Amino acid sequence: MCSPTPIEDRRHPDRRKLEIRCSDGHRSDYPYDELRGYCPCASCQGHAPAELVFHPPQHPVEPLDIRPVGNYALTFRWSDGHATGIYRFDLLRALCPCPACRPAGGPDPKELPTR
Ligand SMILES: [Zn+2]
Ligand SMILES: [Zn+2]
Repeated sequence: MCSPTPIEDRRHPDRRKLEIRCSDGHRSDYPYDELRGYCPCASCQGHAPAELVFHPPQHPVEPLDIRPVGNYALTFRWSDGHATGIYRFDLLRALCPCPACRPAGGPDPKELPTR
């Protein structure tokens, strides 16, 4: 199990995906719109959500800026101006779309950690 410290993030504007590597070597490729749609902030999810809900962005977005928050999360500034989501590493791992993390396809919202 990764103690998920992204050691590399690299944007793929052509593929519209963000790549993050964890300390254990695990590699995640996140589609921009999916990361944005799972933004965990209160204005996207409401207060104290029981489970994280996917809100697809109205227009395709891309991350303009990515910053670490302490040593436990990342925050993104999206091209639609939204920048309040704190993506904890455990959330990022839960959203990882790779076959090893998601053998059944999409994430189970009940398994996603909320704030
Ligand atoms: Zn948000
Ligand atoms: Zn994965």
